[in-house]
Amino acid sequence: MEKAHMSVDREEKILVLVRLRPLNKKEIAANEATDWECINDTTIMYRNTLRQGSNIPTTYSFDRVYGGECPTRRVYEDGTKEIALSVVKGINCSIFAYGQTSSGKTYTMTGITELAVADIFDYIFQHEERAFSVKLSAIEIYNETIRDLLNSDGTSLRLRDDPEKGTVVEKATEETLRDYNHLKELLSICQAQRKIGETWLNERSSRSHQIIKLTVESCVRELLGKENSTTLMASVSFIDLAGSERASQTMSGGGARLKEGCHINRSLLALGTVIRKLSKGRQGGHINFRDSKLTRILQPCLGGTARTAIVCTLSPARSHVELTKNTLSFASCAKEVTTKARVNVVMSDKALLKQLQCELTRLQTELRNAASNCDCAATARKKDVLIQKMEKQIEELRKERDLAHSRLEASKVYITTTGSFPITFLYRFC
Ligand code: ADP
Repeated sequence: MEKAHMSVDREEKILVLVRLRPLNKKEIAANEATDWECINDTTIMYRNTLRQGSNIPTTYSFDRVYGGECPTRRVYEDGTKEIALSVVKGINCSIFAYGQTSSGKTYTMTGITELAVADIFDYIFQHEERAFSVKLSAIEIYNETIRDLLNSDGTSLRLRDDPEKGTVVEKATEETLRDYNHLKELLSICQAQRKIGETWLNERSSRSHQIIKLTVESCVRELLGKENSTTLMASVSFIDLAGSERASQTMSGGGARLKEGCHINRSLLALGTVIRKLSKGRQGGHINFRDSKLTRILQPCLGGTARTAIVCTLSPARSHVELTKNTLSFASCAKEVTTKARVNVVMSDKALLKQLQCELTRLQTELRNAASNCDCAATARKKDVLIQKMEKQIEELRKERDLAHSRLEASKVYITTTGSFPITFLYRFC
């Protein structure tokens, strides 16, 4: 639960990058043509006008587009770096790759993850005045089942709704990262885990979503453990989605394959629906994030309080043109989605207690005013509903206040800080 509201939310659109890979050996051997061209830094053009039955080439514009010769480092430096590094400032963020199988999602995300973690460690070394802790978890969603990629026991993990953190994956292994090499070690464990899956079903990785999450906590070293210390806490997620063709393909066959297809459809369709609705703003209507595990987990990144970048990867081959257009249509919707990034500050029980007390007083005053203004019957009914709602809120606040109060004795105290972003206060049981 949000504990306080500071300044006005800082809104920004999701950053959408489009990356066209080069033709691969198979496509070259098959004499595949490519009809796509990046005509400048932000526009990609489809020039097979004959096929379209029109003389006008179709163009699509995004924050940035990259042709086949462009290295991953540039994709990273141009936009995703700034977003990924906001994690050290206490802002949740996520970078994900969307596109058909073999369009370059894993290639792009592996590169971006490694570059981002290297930069995060660089930042940590340059800021000795702060004490950092970096933890990594890795999960895979396959057939709507969540598996821990850092644990080989294969048990499925459950999602839980946490009033403060939103949807959390229960009991996911969290490894404290020592350094960049440790990250490489853990990433190869994840890769091996995904490979194990592939032995019993081909192409598993193109059907599953992988989420690597890095949680970064920091506080001023000198103040560590003192009353006026400040803790920033946020996570950055690197998400390698299943092949987007799974959302459009009608599955034939039966058994495990059909089940698999349905689930992938469900997850990616749910993601597509959520993005489409979010892109329409208020006119989009109710957004059901609960339609799939993927959208539940991604909720904060999509229109929530996180900063988000999406890299849409494309195959240039003529034979993939329809899937490429589908990806571009997803990308076009995604670029309309707005998020409201916030700095997450872990709050002490003492500060929380004060906060809750203020909120309680405010609600009680509002309640008194509402009760004394009941003049006509219709208004009175509405007021009754409002009063009931407020009484419930007050009751909840009272409980939280009492809980915070009872914990205060034993607590280690954290105080709040400010940043250029609005602030969400969390609190911690110390
Ligand atoms: P996906 O994860 O979308 O299924 P991959 O990332 O596995 O696709 O890429 C498929 C193949 O294409 C891999 O062999 C990868 O090395 C290659 N590839 C992808 N993107 C690029 C690129 N931008 N430049 C060079 N090779 C690429």
